[in-house]
Amino acid sequence: MLSPGCVIVEAPDSIWEIPDKNALSAQLETEPEDIKNGNGGVVGICTKIVNVLLSAFILAILACSSGNQEVTVVEPQKQQVLVTTEAQPGIMPTNTAIPARPPTNTSTPNTPAAPVPATSVPAIDIRINADFTLTSVLCSDEQGPDCSKLRVGDDYLTTSMPAKGFLYSCDGPNPNAPGSTDSKITWINFADKTWNFFRKLWLPQGIFSPGTGTYKETVVDNRRKIEINNLPVDGKIGDWPMTNYPQLTEIDRNPGIPASTSFSFTYSDKPSEASSPTCASLGEIGVTKNGVVIYNAADGRGEDALAREIVDMFGGHPARSEYHYHFIPERLDNEILGDGHSGIVGYINDGFPIYGYKGVGGVEMSNDDLDQCHGHQHGTLGYHYHATIEYPYTIGCYMGTLR
Ligand SMILES: [Zn+2]
Ligand SMILES: [Zn+2]
Repeated sequence: MLSPGCVIVEAPDSIWEIPDKNALSAQLETEPEDIKNGNGGVVGICTKIVNVLLSAFILAILACSSGNQEVTVVEPQKQQVLVTTEAQPGIMPTNTAIPARPPTNTSTPNTPAAPVPATSVPAIDIRINADFTLTSVLCSDEQGPDCSKLRVGDDYLTTSMPAKGFLYSCDGPNPNAPGSTDSKITWINFADKTWNFFRKLWLPQGIFSPGTGTYKETVVDNRRKIEINNLPVDGKIGDWPMTNYPQLTEIDRNPGIPASTSFSFTYSDKPSEASSPTCASLGEIGVTKNGVVIYNAADGRGEDALAREIVDMFGGHPARSEYHYHFIPERLDNEILGDGHSGIVGYINDGFPIYGYKGVGGVEMSNDDLDQCHGHQHGTLGYHYHATIEYPYTIGCYMGTLR
């Protein structure tokens, strides 16, 4: 554990192990999501030792110099690239971050709080301490669910038919797929099947800087074309690979390193609802305006990816080199329409937009406010999906026809 104070951190033997490549190859063919293959074997040992010691050294310096349990992240990263093609209004200062979204109580019908006019994007005060935890002003307010008891979505995946609050997945559970180690997860209460946002561990920001993210959106002849290189346009990404952080690696062995990959999505500019909803597959189900693809809420095992796996403090993680979000990082919900409703944060593969966390009047959305596909229709916006902090986080199924 990288506790505050001047400690020597040793990497556990487990991170040097080389997994069974055959088993993993078999999974690669059926599980595009969250593939965790080998750690690179003996070749990388020296590099890893240096990286581990360097990480420990930096954290030790931060902890020692503050003399405090909590260390405010002061942008340790000089060369972090900030944005490019599309301005993201309201981007927070560089030491703020991520998603921290109060979810909604899942077991009882939602009773929305009285509409509160939203006049500005709330400031997000995120601090990271030596335990790699995050906190958030939004998770601290009285609106929305208790962030210390979020529903773990494992039991809310269905392959038979769409249902409110569920992910209608094309892929059934695969218990043999890679994933986190249950016994090492400290933020899930496995008895009552809830997870605690404040106790979850997130990969911090560090020296990793994969390049400049791009997002180009054009609409021609009723076709919306979006081209990205799948790196965050706002430059916010964690310090991958996570194998440099033994405390995190013993929980989640994901050795992936995000890299630039070109994607091109073409959607109808005027999508329509299909005769019946369809299931969401593993892999990309849409794209954010931050230039990063969206995956559905489940990992390869069919379990709740956000609740169980370690993502970085900016909300994403790699499947090998493919960076992706399983939910909408809160900072991307940075545009507010006139009536307090969130702006568009991305597009889903059926062409319908996904908006941020807030509905009319600035009221935070929950599953109870949305249909089985996690969307609704009101005003002049037409049909659209919403982000929630509550599983399934982005969409439950496709309401429209796939591209
Ligand atoms: Zn994932
Ligand atoms: Zn809406």
